[in-house]
Amino acid sequence: MSSFSPAQSRDIKHQMHPYTNDVAHKTIGPRIIERGEGIYVYDDQGNKFLEAMAGLWSVAVGFGEPRLVEAATRQLQKLPYYHTFTHKSHSPSIELAEKLVDYTQGRMSRVFFTNSGSEANDTVVKMVWYYNNALGRTQKKKIISRKRGYHGVTVASASMTGLVGNHRDFDLPLPQMKHTSCPHFYREGQPGESEVDFASRMEAELEAMIIQEGPETVAAFIGEPVMGAGGVIVPPDTYWGKIQAVCRKYDLLIIADEVITGFGRLGKRFGSDVYGIEPDIMVLSKQITSSYQPLAAVMLNDDVASVISEHSGRLGSFGHGYTASGHPVATAVAIENLNIIQERKLVENAATTGAIMQAALRELAGHPLVGEVRGLGLIAAVELVADKESRRPFDPLGKAGAAVYGRAHENGLIVRAIQDTIAFCPPLIITPEQVSDMVARFAKTLDEVQ
Ligand code: PLP
Repeated sequence: MSSFSPAQSRDIKHQMHPYTNDVAHKTIGPRIIERGEGIYVYDDQGNKFLEAMAGLWSVAVGFGEPRLVEAATRQLQKLPYYHTFTHKSHSPSIELAEKLVDYTQGRMSRVFFTNSGSEANDTVVKMVWYYNNALGRTQKKKIISRKRGYHGVTVASASMTGLVGNHRDFDLPLPQMKHTSCPHFYREGQPGESEVDFASRMEAELEAMIIQEGPETVAAFIGEPVMGAGGVIVPPDTYWGKIQAVCRKYDLLIIADEVITGFGRLGKRFGSDVYGIEPDIMVLSKQITSSYQPLAAVMLNDDVASVISEHSGRLGSFGHGYTASGHPVATAVAIENLNIIQERKLVENAATTGAIMQAALRELAGHPLVGEVRGLGLIAAVELVADKESRRPFDPLGKAGAAVYGRAHENGLIVRAIQDTIAFCPPLIITPEQVSDMVARFAKTLDEVQ
């Protein structure tokens, strides 16, 4: 049994952590992160780490950005809280809504604010149901997502999430949520199949599912342009065009969950821009405030917004909203954060420095532990395998990932292990020199655990 600091002991005694084995936590204890600066964070023992995950895929402008602190402070002094219910509003929420609509170049026309990505996706489910009820299509309620897709953890969002760990013993998923295959060619492609054929097979599978369920019962398809938490899955280039065509054919709304890919992660403003997705609903969070404040946005195109708007008129209210919807401090921080992203050309940096990161990580493809290196812009993953040739995974799954995750800390590097897939998603401010340093620390870690 390790000896814990007083802070660690208090943590173990009182705090229950998300996504944590609580039994193991009592022997491992927490690493207490105390401060951050740029792409680095420091723990309470004085150790410095290159934060290659930007926290949870989210701190775009880096840690310790004074302009965000000032924006929050100014707003806290002026109006620390007000709500946006029943015809009340305030300047930061108005300005941010306008800015977000402009940022989509007019493709989206209205914004509904929530506090988290999970709540945003939960809101989306309710909006989709409300929308179809408004149109008198009371049967059209099922939502199709993908295995390994991640959409959050509320009852509805977790049901759309396609990861077993989010369902097991939570009595999920809800019966309205269906899961189609994950477009991961390396794992799901069949022998002799090309990527183009694989994408066509995914398309055919989706169409068959819709027909089997009955198109009149299927309301929407939700997906992340590039999957994040499911293992950084970059789909074949032709995948989204085909999926979109099937959705249009059967009158399904297309929901782009851009909680990770929004605001430049893939080297364009939105992941939808990379793949030519024309979503009816777009979900944004994380990089919207660089996670300095909790905030998410559900963006609606004109058609969906108008139907919901008119129905609220008929019913007397859109009966949904959060105490902190459009919170003034969070929206003020988001405005300044988006200014920084634009002024410092961080979307462009994700494209150029992202290409450098992709190339540097691909140099590790020959390493005996490495099965696949994948990614786009400033998000990437290295999948570790027990046998390179046969792509055999480790047994138990996650064994190598856990070893790399732990060892990386000793090399001053924080990555994320998704079973045996190591994810990278550094702040958008990262420089080419810092990328070299990050990859060198990772390569050293791989050699040490081999
Ligand atoms: N959607 C995607 C694509 C995500 O990656 C996440 C979180 O990682 C969520 C939704 C849920 O967001 P939150 O953790 O803020 O509830």
